[in-house]
Amino acid sequence: MLGPPGAGKGTQAKLLQDLFGAVQISTGDILRKAMADQTPLGKQAAGFINSGALVPDNVIVDLVAERLKQSDCAHGFLLDGFPRTIPQAESLDAMLKQLGQNLNRVLWVQVPESVLIERLAGRRTCRQCGALAHVTFSPPRTAGVCDRCGGELYQRDDDREETIARRLQVYEKQTAPLVEYYRARGLLRSIDGVGEIEQIRDRVIDALGDLAQ
Ligand code: AMP
Repeated sequence: MLGPPGAGKGTQAKLLQDLFGAVQISTGDILRKAMADQTPLGKQAAGFINSGALVPDNVIVDLVAERLKQSDCAHGFLLDGFPRTIPQAESLDAMLKQLGQNLNRVLWVQVPESVLIERLAGRRTCRQCGALAHVTFSPPRTAGVCDRCGGELYQRDDDREETIARRLQVYEKQTAPLVEYYRARGLLRSIDGVGEIEQIRDRVIDALGDLAQ
C-alpha cells in the first residue's frame, strides 16, 4: 500500500487482512509497539517518529527482513507503510528474491492534501490494538474508548498539526518517487482514496483483481 499519511492505507490493509487472510505488516504499528514497550528499537525510533521524519533505512529494512521470515508470511502479506524510500524498495526486491517471493501489486491510494490534514488531525489510535477512529468521521461508541478492544484511544504525537505538515513534505520528497519506480515495473494501480471506507475497499478489491480470490 503506497500513499501519503492519512490516505487510509492502514484502514484498508486491516480490512483486507480480515477478508483474505494475507497478513498486514505495518512498519508504523511495529515501531509504535516497540516505543510503547520501550525496547531498544523503540527508543531508537521515537525521536524520528515524533518529529515526523523517517526512521533510517537500515533500521527499517532489518525489521522488515526479520518479519518476512516468519511463517505467517509464507502465503502472502500486505505491506503497509513500507517501502517509503527508493533504497527501501531496492532492499525489498533483494529480500523477496532471497525468499523466492514476488511483489504482485502496488496499490497507490490518492487523496488531496486538504482531506489528508482533516483526517490526520482528527484521527485517534488505540494504544492496545492499533485500531483507528476519527473524532468526526467514525467516532467511537464511547469517547476515548476503542470499539474493538476497549483500549484507550489517543492522538499520536505525529498526528498533531505541526508534525502533519512535516510528514506530508517527507512523503512528497522521499516516498512519492516510488510511484514511478513501481509504475515502470508494471505493478502500480492507482486508487481514489476519497469516499466511504467501504467504497474505497471495493475499489481496492477491484484493483487487486485476481489476487482477491
Ligand atoms: P505510519 O504509521 O505508517 O504513518 O508511520 C509512522 C512513522 O513511523 C513514520 O512517520 C516514520 O517516522 C516511521 N516509519 C514507518 N514506516 C517507515 C518506513 N518504511 N521507513 C521509515 N520510517 C517509517
